[in-house]
Amino acid sequence: MNTTQFTACLLYVAEGMIASEPRLTALDQVIGDGDHGIGIKRGFTALRTLLLSADFSPVDIGDCLLQSGTRLMTSMGGASGAIFGTLFRAGGKALAGRDEFDAPTLAAWLESGMQAIHQRGGAKPGDKTMVDALAAATARAHADVALTLAQALAHSAQAAMAGAEETSTMVARFGRAKNLGERAIGHCDPGAVSMALIVQFMSEFVN
Ligand code: ADP
Ligand code: MG
Ligand code: MG
Repeated sequence: MNTTQFTACLLYVAEGMIASEPRLTALDQVIGDGDHGIGIKRGFTALRTLLLSADFSPVDIGDCLLQSGTRLMTSMGGASGAIFGTLFRAGGKALAGRDEFDAPTLAAWLESGMQAIHQRGGAKPGDKTMVDALAAATARAHADVALTLAQALAHSAQAAMAGAEETSTMVARFGRAKNLGERAIGHCDPGAVSMALIVQFMSEFVN
């Protein structure tokens, strides 16, 4: 995908995330404070507005991600505003100057996001956060760099959703679910499901 196609892909992702609000709200009502769906909807609605605005003309994929991340960070709020904003902004820095989004680029974006999110919030795989979905997607993307983007995204999306489902077996070490201790077991982390949905909507757009 070139920068124009990537912008269209992010618009598709934004629509999908906005439509996922009820599902994400339901998850956060069980182990959080119930606002995750609302935050995601607010952030991705603001992102959609940015992507559709006549003066949005990113110079490359990195610029597109950087501007998108800043918009998410300033609109979404909550822990996830900072976390998902960081995911996009880290990609913005890692992919500066690129006008082609392919399988290696996907791996580079996810890897940069993992590192930046770990630096910002300290969460590691196994802590029952969106990092569990992101780590699974990243590992799969690294393994798939020789495949087409469509194949790599399909596999990463599957891995991310499996990673999100895996969080139901975990006790939380970050975020509000931490206060629940063992009572969080049996429930998926809402941010992990959001993370998996982002990759899933990218895959849907390309496939
Ligand atoms: P809040 O907890 O402020 O209400 P949200 O409900 O929007 O924020 O987002 C909650 C999600 O944020 C969690 O499900 C988790 O995936 C993610 N999260 C929270 N803290 C961290 C962290 N330190 N690192 C990564 N993700 C985190
Ligand atoms: Mg919440
Ligand atoms: Mg909250």
